[in-house]
This record gives sequence, structure tokens and C-alpha cells, in this order.
Amino acid sequence: MRFKNIAFVFLFFFLFTGCYNNGSLIETEDDLSKVAGKPYKTENVIVVVIDGPRQSETWQSVDRKYIPRMANLLAPQGVIISEFYNHGVTFTVPGHVAICTGNYESLSNKGEQLPTEPSFFQMWLKISNAPKEKAWIITSKEKLNVLADCRNVEWRNSFNPSFDTANRDDEETYQKATEILTNYQPQLVLLHFRGPDANGHAGDWDKYVNSIAIADSLTYELYKFIENHDFYKNKTTIMVTNDHGRHLDNIATGFIGHGDNCPGCTHLNFYAVGPDFKKNVISTTEREQVDILPTVGELMGFQIDDNKNVMWELFK
Ligand SMILES: [Zn+2]
Ligand SMILES: [Zn+2]
Repeated sequence: MRFKNIAFVFLFFFLFTGCYNNGSLIETEDDLSKVAGKPYKTENVIVVVIDGPRQSETWQSVDRKYIPRMANLLAPQGVIISEFYNHGVTFTVPGHVAICTGNYESLSNKGEQLPTEPSFFQMWLKISNAPKEKAWIITSKEKLNVLADCRNVEWRNSFNPSFDTANRDDEETYQKATEILTNYQPQLVLLHFRGPDANGHAGDWDKYVNSIAIADSLTYELYKFIENHDFYKNKTTIMVTNDHGRHLDNIATGFIGHGDNCPGCTHLNFYAVGPDFKKNVISTTEREQVDILPTVGELMGFQIDDNKNVMWELFK
């Protein structure tokens, strides 16, 4: 009796995996199309996500004193979008999932659930046939390794990027990123800094604003690294944004927490610089996290949904 049950399980398994291998990946070709001979200089895209600063301490502050490099050195080289939003769940995992998959989802913030749909990493690795060392997730929170896969059975365990995710200081994460960029020369990267969120939750205002300044500094270090690296120079686009903000001072716990749809939690920073983008522009066109994936796809040679939501105003 027991043997019969095991045999049935095996039979079911082979039938199921047989179906998966025969049909699944081909069916997605209609949704994901390759752009032949793309007209862009960009060959690499790095998305930097700074975890949890508010607009009131960053771009919307009067003196921008915690983001001096972004305000004075980076902004003139690229485009700022002043009205950029998380219109989904304002926690770390859902915010990153919206950025990487183009979908708002109410997922566990502990890293216990994979996103439903594939990320730009999986889409690009599929369309480019590049090895997984060419796409990296490098983060200061271990749980963000959920971004490397999804639950859609047509994609699960396929075209997964490499990842180096650990709970660590942002300087250490940046150091790891430069090693990975040097050793593997990845073409698609997500780099995450946790400082503002971790210190905000600790309720330490000075450390919170100081960690914003550290993330600002590391972002500028990355820009200089790219500008001085033969593989990346003049063919790399960098986007800088947040997964979520934090409550306004008069809402709930103020800067200590986040997670609702108050303006402090939903209004984010967005900056982009690259060889195909305008310089020294502040765009007021309203945009949101789910517009990042189609824009990455446009630059990296894959299209979804007929280019709907590409942030065309960034382009020259
Ligand atoms: Zn948080
Ligand atoms: Zn809030």
C-alpha cells in the first residue's frame, strides 16, 4: 500500500514536470519581446535603492544638507523626478518587488514569500542568454534575496540572477559591490543601502540623517567608480530611488516608522544618470515605482506591454 502511494507520487511528479518542460517558457515569448538593434548607448543598468529616507530630509528639504553630492554634483549630470511615488505597500520587500517586477504586491516583509512575477533580472537574463554572473542583487538586508526568483511556474528557478545579500553596514555592502563589479562586470545590478531605515527604526535622529549622508556619499562613489572604469564608462545608466519613505512627523510614530499611505511614506526620491538621458533636468511628470521595470527593459533590450509606462521624459 505504502509503495503504491510512493509510486503514484512519482508518476504525478513526472507528468507534472513533463508539462512544465514542454510548454512553459515558450508561452511567455508573446509577453516578452526582444528589441532588435536597440538605439541606445546604455549596455549596463545599476539601480540603487536607499531604504527609507523621507523627502523632508532629502530632495524636498530646504538646504539639502544631508544629500550634498546628489544636490550639487549628481543632479546636474542627470534627471531628478520630483513627483515619484510608491503607490503600493510602503515596506521594504513590497517596495523592492514593485521596483524589480513592475507589480505592486502585498507580500510578507520578512522575506518569506517570493514575488508572483519575474523581475527585470530574469527577463534580461532570458532575452540576453547571459550567464547569471552578469546580473547581481547586492543588499544590506539578507531578506532581499527573495528578489532573485518568483512564484510564476513558467519562470521559477529559471534565469535567476546572482545575489550577495546580508544584514550589514552600507559601507561593507558598497565594498562588496565594487568587488563584484570588478570581478564579474555585471550588466544589471540592484544595490541596496539600509542605513536610513535601520537608524530610523532605532529612533536615533542623528544616526538617521547621518546614514542618509553616507548613502549619498556611497552613491557618488559608485558614480565615480563607473566613470573611471573601462567596462562601464559612457555605457552605464544609474538610477537612484527608495523602496519607501517614513511617516510625516504628525502621523503615527513619525520618522521612526512607515508602512501606510501618508505622503511621508509614499513620496520618494528618483534620480537617473546615463548616456541616453538628459542632463540637469528636474521633471515634474508624476511617476511611480512600477515605471522602473519598463524603463530598464527599454534600455536593456526587452519590452513588455508595448512599452507602456516607459519614463520617456528621461531620454534625450
Ligand atoms: Zn523599515
Ligand atoms: Zn506614513
